[in-house]
Amino acid sequence: IIILCSAIFILLSITVSFFLSKKTMKPIINSWNRQVEFVENASHELRTPLTIIQNKLELLQTTPDKKIMDRFENIALSLSETRRLSRLTTDLMTLARADSTETQLEKQSIDLDTFIDNVCSPYMEIAEMQDKKVYLQLNSQTKVMADSGRMHQLMVILLDNALKYTGEHDRITISTSLQENKIVIEVSDTGIGISEAGIGRVFDRFYREDRARTRGSGGSGLGLSIAQWIVQSHNGTIQAIHNEPKGMIFRIKLPK
Ligand code: ADP
Repeated sequence: IIILCSAIFILLSITVSFFLSKKTMKPIINSWNRQVEFVENASHELRTPLTIIQNKLELLQTTPDKKIMDRFENIALSLSETRRLSRLTTDLMTLARADSTETQLEKQSIDLDTFIDNVCSPYMEIAEMQDKKVYLQLNSQTKVMADSGRMHQLMVILLDNALKYTGEHDRITISTSLQENKIVIEVSDTGIGISEAGIGRVFDRFYREDRARTRGSGGSGLGLSIAQWIVQSHNGTIQAIHNEPKGMIFRIKLPK
């Protein structure tokens, strides 16, 4: 009886631990690993501007008789890194809230074409100053139930990127339409584009293309993750597609 009981106990333990390790533990371990990776990446991104600010301030402290222009340069750089830190912490907070599902959407009926027109107008002026052109093709003629603050944030992320990753004489087109009972919003550009390998990773947190890093655009790789979260929380989808002959198209589909 003792041997039989022991055998049953061992068998039960093996089954339970197998079940736990396979079914229950795997998602927990995966989620834990993702959290650790997120904290590591976030710390790295926060440390870089902090190190620059610290160096510049130490330089100002240890060499008080430096030329006024050199001092000004150090202060200007510290300021721009402080702004980067501020943007980064806001983005991290947005994603932390997104993970905790704490954020409630404040949906209201929005006239989509008018809304997009209003968001894009300031970008047309900025683009003009950079010798780029922004075109609007607004044909949805529909209203959408959406959180206007979040939708604004979404468009700003895509428009900022379109401006960051295009050069002189490039074109940026924002369009809205109705297709198969879905509302489609597209932001396309004729800029540097994304590599084949990168297309599937651009919505990953902290992902940045090498060509974006070398461009020194100062991004953190969080914008598109936030954009994806906003779209998904409106029950929609967002896709990154190559534009022809060059550049990118970001296509959003929302339920009508
Ligand atoms: P970032 O702050 O670096 O712009 P995002 O999450 O918004 O972060 O974008 C992630 C990466 O996707 C960027 O670093 C860049 O490599 C690439 N990317 C995003 N939008 C575009 C675009 N319109 N054209 C080319 N590359 C883009």
